[in-house]
Amino acid sequence: MLAIEEISKTFGGVRALSEVSLSCGAGEILGLIGPNGAGKSTLVNVISGVVTPDKGAITLAGGDIGAMATEGRARAGVARTFQNIKLFKDLTVRQNVEVAHITCVSARRDVAATIDIDTLLERYGLAALADLAAGTLAYGAQRRLELVRALALGPVLLLLDEPAAGLNELESEALAEAIEDIRATVGCAVIVIDHDLGFINRLCDRLCVMDQGRVIADGGTEDVWSNPKVIEVYVGTSTAHSAH
Ligand code: ADP
Ligand code: MG
Repeated sequence: MLAIEEISKTFGGVRALSEVSLSCGAGEILGLIGPNGAGKSTLVNVISGVVTPDKGAITLAGGDIGAMATEGRARAGVARTFQNIKLFKDLTVRQNVEVAHITCVSARRDVAATIDIDTLLERYGLAALADLAAGTLAYGAQRRLELVRALALGPVLLLLDEPAAGLNELESEALAEAIEDIRATVGCAVIVIDHDLGFINRLCDRLCVMDQGRVIADGGTEDVWSNPKVIEVYVGTSTAHSAH
């Protein structure tokens, strides 16, 4: 589904990504973890087109998306949420979802026809809030709205940057269930970044661990957590990285 090959990106003198290669299949939930500054958000920004890499290739369903702008990738089904919530705060909840749906209609009418906005709002607990301005919602509800807005794009690939940040335990449990529900119903590939390792381990089929711009481990949850390089990064004595 998604294949990225040898992506590198430098900001000034900082090597944010060094020859990162990664794939994610349809119906797979891949956890992207690693210390602060490891390059996780940059990688997601490169995939969604927000950041242009210095080198490397990105294909989605066999098609080269590396040269497309953000808009083109959204039309191709690359949907995302942001580490810091980015909603149209003055538009209503429903309007936020409609904007994404229109994008899908313009590119993939057949896919858009299978998406019903009312059903989505209902399914993820936003129906009663549909006519409120998005900016007036509680934090947890704004997080749900970001997710529903991404779903209205008819995602082929869903990128979630720290979706559980700031949620309480009940809310993150509900979020994990929602993401599993999306995998079952939409069947898209999902890449999720989060620092909450309980949340990640419960949710993900596969983990990719990054450190200092490189992938240091990629595999099933058990294999990754028994990998010495991963243990070094997470429980090592190095004070250069914090776990958050
Ligand atoms: P993570 O999401 O894993 O915490 P990031 O991808 O945000 O890490 O950052 C990786 C590195 O790239 C960090 O050293 C960060 O300071 C740097 N970086 C990220 N974005 C920018 C930017 N727009 N300009 C300059 N440096 C950046
Ligand atoms: Mg980040």
